[in-house]
Amino acid sequence: MFERPRGTNDWGPEEMAKRRFVESRFVQLAESFGFREVSTPTFESLDLFTAKSGPGIVRELYTFKDQGGRDLALRPEFTAPLLRFYVGELRSRPKPLKLYTMGNVFRYEEPQKGRYREFSQLNVEIIGGAALPSDAEVLALGIGTMRAIGLKQVKARVGNIGILRSLLPFDPVDQAVVLHSLDKRNFEMLDSELRRLGRPELAEPLRKSIGLAGNASILAEAQKVLAGASPEGFDYLRSLGDLLTAYGIPPTDYEFDMGVVRGLDYYTGMVFEIDSPNLGAEKQVGGGGAYSLAEIFGGERVAQTGFALGLDRLVMAAEAEGTIPAERALDAYVIPVGDGMRDRAVKVVTKLRVAGLRADIDLVGRGPTKNLDYANSVGARTAVLVGEKEARAGSVALRNMKTGAQSVVALDGLAEAIRAS
Ligand code: AMP
Repeated sequence: MFERPRGTNDWGPEEMAKRRFVESRFVQLAESFGFREVSTPTFESLDLFTAKSGPGIVRELYTFKDQGGRDLALRPEFTAPLLRFYVGELRSRPKPLKLYTMGNVFRYEEPQKGRYREFSQLNVEIIGGAALPSDAEVLALGIGTMRAIGLKQVKARVGNIGILRSLLPFDPVDQAVVLHSLDKRNFEMLDSELRRLGRPELAEPLRKSIGLAGNASILAEAQKVLAGASPEGFDYLRSLGDLLTAYGIPPTDYEFDMGVVRGLDYYTGMVFEIDSPNLGAEKQVGGGGAYSLAEIFGGERVAQTGFALGLDRLVMAAEAEGTIPAERALDAYVIPVGDGMRDRAVKVVTKLRVAGLRADIDLVGRGPTKNLDYANSVGARTAVLVGEKEARAGSVALRNMKTGAQSVVALDGLAEAIRAS
């Protein structure tokens, strides 16, 4: 007996149907926004991920050497691969570039409910748009995806890391350490780092500010607490709120939250996280923000905004809220009755499939009674009995599995009769 590796999942037919439902709603919405799908490899050169990711991500990488001795890593996220692709091949395309991609990513984390070592993300990036309209577009798509899945409990928390950066007159490495300690709510580390950097008085307002969350009215309060920060960042969030209103996003779907810092060092402006509040500890279903990374991969400076939604958690949220429609049942199960009827039964099932129905056929050679039991157990709506007597008249027997009613139907009208039953 083999066991699957820790932190991985097998998804059975019922689970896959749910995952495809969520994915398809996302794809539909992203395409309606003018995003186009791309795909990148599952593994990349190790240094792609060590180039810009914080130490957290690097510690969680699945790395290996291939038979040629190359250092490779399974992708832990999509931003770096997409940026590599953009800089290498897509950068001469008209801007902005609006891309989406979906697939599995890998992180060596401690597994628990909603936290796996292999999981799937739905990812979007806008490359080369102006900051404010692009940020609003990405946020609207993120919140809209949750709505399109049918979720009622949606809460995006929107911050602006630019505000905090404008308050921290340090080099990028020192800024990163301070922001990291804020992100982790590690106030001891925050105090000691700010002392080391000669600005201990910043600890108090920083600590206070990350507790501020709510509607636009908290922005004035945050501005008072973070008196030394540049006012632009606050105005930016106000304008973003106005744009979200124009997208038709109700104010109940999001709040401004000065405490959204996000772990990765590369965010420059707007940052956000989206929660499904009833998921408990793993309630965060997605996150994203504005950043500028292309230079790190050898391109020119260009603005980017993106998000990653966790497919696994979206499905959990949809299950919890009961938004996933029942799977489409098998329309017909075709049963050859008696010797010599298989060819005809295959022709019948093929005709139904061509007509766009979900149709299956006996592959075991069971007798009619056992086959009807089987049709019942797989939830087929109808059974089509292909027997010799009906065949002579160009007909079959159609049985409604729910009512048990059976009638003789001409082959020509069979698909319609199944649809109607
Ligand atoms: P991140 O790339 O860390 O911002 O994560 C984006 C989203 O991916 C999160 O909000 C989660 O929904 C999902 N996610 C992150 N890590 C995991 C994990 N280990 N297992 C399942 N989903 C995850």
